[in-house]
Amino acid sequence: MLVAALLGMLVWLAVRYEISQVQTALERDTGDAVSDIRGALTRNVQGLQSLYARSPTPGSWTVEAAALLHEHREWVRLEWRDPGLTVLAQVDTPYRTPVFDRLGRENARSDVALACAAARKFNGAAYSGSYFVPLSDGLGLEVMEMCMPLVTAGRLSGYVVATYSLQDMLSELITKSYTRSQEVSFTEPDGTRLALHGTVRRGNRVFTAQQLLDLPGNTLVLRMDGWRGAPDLFPNVLTALVTAMSIALVLVLVLLGKDMRRRLKAEHDLADALAFRKAMEDSLVTGLRARDLAGRTTYVNPSFCRMVGFSADELLGRGTPAPYWPPEMAGEYQKRQAIRLAGNSPREGVESVFMRKDGSRFPVLIIEAPLINVLGKQTGWMSALLDISEQRRIEELSRASQDRLQATARLATVGEMASLLSHELNQPLAAIASYATGSINLLEVAQGEPAQAMPHTLSDLHMAMGRIAEQAERAGKVIKSVHDFVRRRDQSREAVPAQALLDDIMPLVQLQARKLQVRVVMQLEGGLPDALCDRTMVEQVLLNLARNAMQAMDLPGLRERELLFRVRRAASAEGNRWLEFAVVDGGPGIPDEVARQLFTPFYTTKTEGMGLGLSLCRTVVEQHGGYLDFTPRVPQGTVFRFTLPAAPDRPAA
Ligand code: ADP
Repeated sequence: MLVAALLGMLVWLAVRYEISQVQTALERDTGDAVSDIRGALTRNVQGLQSLYARSPTPGSWTVEAAALLHEHREWVRLEWRDPGLTVLAQVDTPYRTPVFDRLGRENARSDVALACAAARKFNGAAYSGSYFVPLSDGLGLEVMEMCMPLVTAGRLSGYVVATYSLQDMLSELITKSYTRSQEVSFTEPDGTRLALHGTVRRGNRVFTAQQLLDLPGNTLVLRMDGWRGAPDLFPNVLTALVTAMSIALVLVLVLLGKDMRRRLKAEHDLADALAFRKAMEDSLVTGLRARDLAGRTTYVNPSFCRMVGFSADELLGRGTPAPYWPPEMAGEYQKRQAIRLAGNSPREGVESVFMRKDGSRFPVLIIEAPLINVLGKQTGWMSALLDISEQRRIEELSRASQDRLQATARLATVGEMASLLSHELNQPLAAIASYATGSINLLEVAQGEPAQAMPHTLSDLHMAMGRIAEQAERAGKVIKSVHDFVRRRDQSREAVPAQALLDDIMPLVQLQARKLQVRVVMQLEGGLPDALCDRTMVEQVLLNLARNAMQAMDLPGLRERELLFRVRRAASAEGNRWLEFAVVDGGPGIPDEVARQLFTPFYTTKTEGMGLGLSLCRTVVEQHGGYLDFTPRVPQGTVFRFTLPAAPDRPAA
């Protein structure tokens, strides 16, 4: 509004200035016109005086006056009068019919007398007031008398009277250029127009200037009217320029306003986006941390602060070593940072250990990505950090429960075998009992026998005791194998020959094999490397597979009952060495609907089964990095196969 008002005023002032320029020019012209008239009148007086230079007679005067009149159109008539104002000689202008013919000269007598009285008083030319002379053609003429006293040798000798036509004064005495573009008129002081000369009116706005022409004895007002076209809105370059600039300014203001609104909107949107981002960052459980290329922390989110227990102020701007680096690991972290600065940051997460403000350590998973700015230049690194202590705890828990489950499964296996075990133990115990009974009998018989029969009895006793010891050892072995199987719990991986694995489970396998009349066959490739494995676990896998195989062959009509253990080298894509264990049976095979759920925990088709065997077997094998699967065997039966990593060759020693 202010600018608009200012601009309006500027335009108005420019127009005003323009008008005042025109007015000033007109006033100057008027002044010039007045001095033109004044100068001409003075010259005329001198010209009249020249008539009397050589003491004229009325006759000679008339000739000279006529010549003078010829040159001065502004005069209507010249008269020479004596001191009593009687006309001595007179001449009328050749350009008009004599003006005074209609009314006669007498009407002007009083004007002439007044002018001459004034002239005598001033002792110089004086003028009468103007008066109107009607002409014979119906029009009229405003005239004015000029009277000049003639003085000869200090005495008034007469007057010369010149009658001026005001109209012709305007057209003859004023420089032509003024009248070309302006209208010039004589008016009385009250504004009555006496005579007019000028051009047709142009334009619709009039500028007027007036100037007094005071002559001795009479005062006239010269008025000039200048007609101008409506002071156009842009009268000249200045105004046009000012206006154009004003418009430009307004335009710029409008554009600026628009731009401002756009900026405000953008700012608003940005604030919204920022608030959104802030809410997002604050709600994240993932810690976020940004660092510049020198390793100084430039940003942390609340979650990161909570994680490490430091406030944002304590972290921002801090270089390495960071306050949350455990002092004992700072060196290693520094190295890692150097690698990252060299541009070799791994895209996948890195596990690391951080320290809380209270000094406690916790594991974190760090995922880093380069921070790229608008220009596509890297300015630092952005890291997302996950506190994985909880995850670790759960992993630990699940591993522990897995262990417990496996131990339980082992116990269950043994439980299932309880009858077999008792049968197995029964044999040595029965043998021990019968040998013991035999020995007692021998001892009783020996008491009644002669001494020479003693050595024979002793050798029998010796043999019986030997058998007892043998059978006790056999029973002990069975007990021990069960004990070992259930109790052994060292997690470590060791290099174990495949043969040893099979030998360890053989007593337990044989228990069942004997009962089900299954022949156990082993096929081991020559020169096999050791398997690198957790012995107990792998034995349990083998035992499970063997047990399933034998149970599958426990069919009434089946004659060919053979359980085959096959171990050989397995090829692998990475060139690593693997061992492949296969447990092959001649059972009915596995129908599709069973195969689909085979590895689901607690899935079983047996009344006394737990359904844990195969799922645990797969877990164990996968923990070793291998795989477990099965294929049907031709003509009938199933092949269960699993792989284990081979141990590096043992040194020759
Ligand atoms: P469980 O032996 O306690 O039933 P497993 O997980 O060891 O549990 O076996 C699940 C099921 O897979 C068995 O119930 C059986 O039906 C089937 N199965 C396993 N091994 C064989 C095999 N060699 N031949 C036929 N069926 C088998």
